[in-house]
Amino acid sequence: MIERQDTESGAHFAFTDRWGGVSAVPYEQLNLGGAVGDDPAAVRTNRELAAKSLGLDPGQVVWMNQVHGREVAVVDGPWHAADAAAPVSPAAPAAPSAPSGIPPVDALVTARGGLALAVLTADCVPVLLADPVAGIASAAHAGRPGLVAGVVPAAVEAMVALGAEPSRITARTGPAVCGRCYEVPAALRDDVAAVVPESWAETSWGTPAVDVVAGVHAQLAALGIQDRGRSDFCTRESGDHFSYRRDRTTGRLAGYVWLDGADGPGGTA
Ligand SMILES: [Zn+2]
Repeated sequence: MIERQDTESGAHFAFTDRWGGVSAVPYEQLNLGGAVGDDPAAVRTNRELAAKSLGLDPGQVVWMNQVHGREVAVVDGPWHAADAAAPVSPAAPAAPSAPSGIPPVDALVTARGGLALAVLTADCVPVLLADPVAGIASAAHAGRPGLVAGVVPAAVEAMVALGAEPSRITARTGPAVCGRCYEVPAALRDDVAAVVPESWAETSWGTPAVDVVAGVHAQLAALGIQDRGRSDFCTRESGDHFSYRRDRTTGRLAGYVWLDGADGPGGTA
């Protein structure tokens, strides 16, 4: 089962759950994360299964080496393509790449129709953005550190630099740990709320918490993005989703965003 939304303007948003793959316990079944201890062959198969179920070419899905930062990469093809990536973040020079050659970024932006951007999570907030008029899409990984660092505003800034307009952007956030489940020390809650007040929360058992989803939506609203939607699922409460806080050793869910390609309606070629 996959949460999916397709707009008439040719934008596509999808979030996986844990079913429909080949991984064994504790990654059963559809683990899409390559750095969590699962069998790499199973992950490869799962990525192919997920892409095919979405009507995507597995070779046209771009993944990230996520590090809880705010760096953004603009891509126009998979990483193995010669000219695939050019870091655009105004922050520090690009950090050393992972052994895989995939640079450490927490957001991707593309102007290429048909190219899918993917984000991995298991409690963090997967954020998918698209301006179909400009033909710009973005996927971002926003956990608590990313919320504070501003990875979502950085992704939107990179989209705008390529011609997107916030008033035209559709934003969707996927399954993530909810504010009633994400317990933190009181001082940490204060630190996060000092940056994003809307993230201040309390657990269902009455202790300090952070609502990262609410914080991300507040950041999106402040940027002028009104068309926002969110998944109803809390990963920690849902047995159909991976949750790091609940299970520690577990798989990763994926969010995918793409725009119609050159040979489809709304193509950008
Ligand atoms: Zn919850």
